Amino acid sequence: MITDFLELGLSNEILNAVAELGFEKPTPVQSRIIPQLLMEDGDIVCLAQTGTGKTAAFGLPALEYLDIRDKGTQVLVLCPTRELCRQIHEDLTAYSKYISGIRIVPVYGGAGILGQIRELKKGAQIIVATPGRLLDLLKRDAADISGISTLIMDEADEMLDMGFKDELDAILSQAPQSRRTLLFSATLPREVERIAKSYMKNPDIVTVGERNAGADNVEHFYYMVLEEDRYAAMKRIADYHPDIYAIVFCRTREETKKIADALQRDGYDADALHGDLSQAQRDYVMDRFKRKALHFLVATDVAARGIDVSDLTHVINYNLPQETELYTHRSGRTGRADKKGVSIAIINQREKGKIRKIEAAIKKQFTRLPVPGAREICEKQLFHLINEINGAEVGREIDSFMPAIEELWGSMSREELVKKMLSYEFNRFFEYYRKAKDINIPEKPERKTAGKKAASDDGRTADSPDDKVRKPADGNPGKCEKGYTWLKISLGYRNRIIPRDIIGIMRACGIGKNAVGKIEIFNDFLYVALQNNVAGYAKSQIDGASYNRKRLSAWLIKD
Ligand code: ADP
Ligand code: MG
Repeated sequence: MITDFLELGLSNEILNAVAELGFEKPTPVQSRIIPQLLMEDGDIVCLAQTGTGKTAAFGLPALEYLDIRDKGTQVLVLCPTRELCRQIHEDLTAYSKYISGIRIVPVYGGAGILGQIRELKKGAQIIVATPGRLLDLLKRDAADISGISTLIMDEADEMLDMGFKDELDAILSQAPQSRRTLLFSATLPREVERIAKSYMKNPDIVTVGERNAGADNVEHFYYMVLEEDRYAAMKRIADYHPDIYAIVFCRTREETKKIADALQRDGYDADALHGDLSQAQRDYVMDRFKRKALHFLVATDVAARGIDVSDLTHVINYNLPQETELYTHRSGRTGRADKKGVSIAIINQREKGKIRKIEAAIKKQFTRLPVPGAREICEKQLFHLINEINGAEVGREIDSFMPAIEELWGSMSREELVKKMLSYEFNRFFEYYRKAKDINIPEKPERKTAGKKAASDDGRTADSPDDKVRKPADGNPGKCEKGYTWLKISLGYRNRIIPRDIIGIMRACGIGKNAVGKIEIFNDFLYVALQNNVAGYAKSQIDGASYNRKRLSAWLIKD
């Protein structure tokens, strides 16, 4: 394996630019692919996880074989999202810093097409595009790919997942036969294989690193709390890391909005990134995050795909993804290149199994960490502040105020002054954490079907409700507490259910007693009031699960 950029066969212009970016040695995918692309012909399917340096692996050779005197389009890079498009454009621009006269044009949906047409008119030796927008431009004759020598599909699996199948087919069938095609993907689902079979010429399949393996320099941790404490746990983790700079992954757009709003309300620099935002809004959010004006980017998997932000301190799985594979993508956002990364997951005790599944897939262990307690957090914040004060520069301007300050503070003892100043900064923390309890939950032996079959079939007799007290088969519950939602479940007196059983079922779903409000039981149905933030989760856990061999249905009752 080549371990020096100088041996790859790259020209000086490019080597200089790469050196300026601080790349010391090629990553495995780069040493594997770059010489092959420079020295040999042929198509390549490259399977490599995120964060392995694929952009430079295809970008550097692509720049090498450009003919700068020819203004026509020679290289086409296709990628799934606008953000990735802009990122690849930025990276290629940096790599080609010393190649004068080069034109690289990004085109993507959600932004004005006229400006992009103007840019293309000025010449575009490399076009970086999302499939939909490119097709649009091709139809308008604003882009011309008839002369390309290289076509690159980046994050091909994601492009297909996002429904770009038809667009890809259309583009690939329009590109000249003589081209070379490169396909990059983290995984090789059937659809990607189909694309490779139909549009590539006997490609070399190169797998770098183990498929699905988590990046080696990422450490994985989880925190286990009750469902209703999920947000509180995240807040504590955030407070325990005063310098945190993290992507927070959620499963849905609604969830990203909710969490970002809550974080903002609680005084954190956070914002959401998801598909409902306009292009301008997304750019604004990304820009603030990259400048570190935001410390938390709360995102869906799709919105964050391919985004490369260096120096992330954490990837936070606010909720674990539905598919194990997505976890690899998420954790690949941290630990980029040579840096160490930390990926954490907040789970309830129902989700231990998911952790085990991910461990098996990434072949790495998670470590459970306790959610930091009030005292530890306050201590951490306090010393962080003291360090910041120590590092402050003292300007001369302050001198002229000293006599007045002396007058006000002169009689105060040093100790008193220090206490006062730190308390001023700190009271909000002390206040918040004064009543904070321990939210960690004890490790329990793992049960295969956990919440799904909830409490036991204990052949209850003594506790049984009096069968003579007939309740109507169903009815409407009264009003539930403010901040709670009724969850209706297809269990009732007929099933010999008593409130204690319901608490047990909730507990098995990871929901604690404190999140459970009123309970109303009828003959065939029951209603349980749940705190709003856990109600949806409870429904998803209970609907379709079985209880004493009965299949359950559950509904959320909106007021
Ligand atoms: P991928 O597309 O495989 O997810 P990227 O191409 O986005 O990965 O690269 C991930 C990060 O690693 C980027 O920040 C990039 O600048 C950096 N990087 C790439 N190659 C090297 C290298 N040889 N040395 C150091 N950093 C690198
Ligand atoms: Mg990439």
